[in-house]
Amino acid sequence: MANAKLNFDVVIVGGGLVGLTAALACAQAGFKIGIVDLKEPTLQLNESFDGRSSAIAAASFKMMRALGVADALAEANDNHAGAITKILVSDGEAGQAPSPLTLYFDSAQIAEANEGEPLGYMVENRRMRLALIQVAEQSEHIHWIAPARITDIEAGPAQSKIALEDGRALSAALVVAADGRNSFVRKQAGIGVTEWPCNQSALVTTVEHDLPHEGVAHELFLPSGPFAILPLTGNRASIVWTETPRAAEAAMALSDAQFEAELARRFGDFLGEVKVIAPRWSYPLSFVHAKSYTAPRTVLIGDAAHAIHPIAGQGFNMGLRDAAALAEILVQARAEGRDIGSELALAEFEDWRKFDNTLLVHACDIFNRLFSNNIGPLKHARRLGLGLVDKVAPARGFFMREASGQTGELPPLLRGQAYSEPTKRAS
Ligand SMILES: Cc1cc2nc3c(=O)[nH]c(=O)nc-3n(C[C@H](O)[C@H](O)[C@H](O)COP(=O)(O)OP(=O)(O)OC[C@H]3O[C@@H](n4cnc5c(N)ncnc54)[C@H](O)[C@@H]3O)c2cc1C
Repeated sequence: MANAKLNFDVVIVGGGLVGLTAALACAQAGFKIGIVDLKEPTLQLNESFDGRSSAIAAASFKMMRALGVADALAEANDNHAGAITKILVSDGEAGQAPSPLTLYFDSAQIAEANEGEPLGYMVENRRMRLALIQVAEQSEHIHWIAPARITDIEAGPAQSKIALEDGRALSAALVVAADGRNSFVRKQAGIGVTEWPCNQSALVTTVEHDLPHEGVAHELFLPSGPFAILPLTGNRASIVWTETPRAAEAAMALSDAQFEAELARRFGDFLGEVKVIAPRWSYPLSFVHAKSYTAPRTVLIGDAAHAIHPIAGQGFNMGLRDAAALAEILVQARAEGRDIGSELALAEFEDWRKFDNTLLVHACDIFNRLFSNNIGPLKHARRLGLGLVDKVAPARGFFMREASGQTGELPPLLRGQAYSEPTKRAS
């Protein structure tokens, strides 16, 4: 990763998890990439910047292997990818045993279709970001322009011109907005959004527990929203505890001992004693979906296009699919001698990604509304629904393939096919 040379094939605005992955994918295919971010990349590496961990579906992890990121994660981070081998979904109330009607996914049940892979991996965001940055640093095609603030973007007939506050000017055939849910590029391009709040916040922390989790991800639906216990490496788990904003604020103000007692009421004792080992975070939740994913010489990917509730752990995975599809469209356009920022390339991207993403955005919303309440008939219906899906093998298989990211039209990177040898880190 070098410092700014100012003419690029693609300028990616936002060097978060999705923007960095898109940069690696396009750079591996030989495109010259500029990444612009408001912040210095190394500032974004510690726990005080992002305490979240992400469930990365098996297909998304294949992409990480193809890009050389899984190797960097294993080497530099002492293998900080925890396999999710089973998922247990249940419905309950804090302080009470969950309903016996549960839904249980075991990767062994789709071992053949999934080539023996687990359903996915849990990785701490800051460790994922470190691995992405390390691989990007090895690429001669990636140029980091940060910290920098964009003041204007102007799409022209052959290129876009990007003006920076410090007076520099960049140009590129395509601008990729990966600048998160409040995307500046999206606003600048005049793309509107559909957005709606969910009156929930997600409390996030990491715990250590006495007994092994054996790779099981637990999703317990409580009346205030889902409470997830997600298996990290060792005897550690990432907690995503959804509450109303007021209850979340109160939980943030609890002492450590009080907070641990509240966690214990929801956990029960199946993991033995549980200790909080990381800072607490509270994320206000809402849905934001861009009305269009494209504007002249511009595409939106990741949270800039669709920011969703973490109920199904899909936001980052959707962004990775965007990145993989975009790289493939650009490769095809170049192979056919077409302009990579042309309306045709943009329309292909919108076609490929908008339908899938729209389905997931709405499925997550409906799922969250159905499960985050204590309305008697709904409670019984959803418990029966969980029990039913558990008993019907094809339905269970469908949800497992969805969870492992194996459905829909997968671009080569999500099938594990690299565009060239992954960049090797110098030892
Ligand atoms: C509690 C919680 C748990 C989650 N768990 C999961 C999970 O298990 N699995 C999963 O798949 N997803 C999960 N998600 C969703 C996932 O975290 C997001 O979808 C993902 O982080 C989005 O990444 P991004 O790169 O698109 O955006 P961001 O992470 O928001 O990155 C945006 C980047 O753009 C930069 N930027 C912003 N504005 C500008 C600007 N004007 N100019 C230049 N740069 C700019 C920022 O500095 C940042 O680097 C979870 C979300 C939450 C809230």
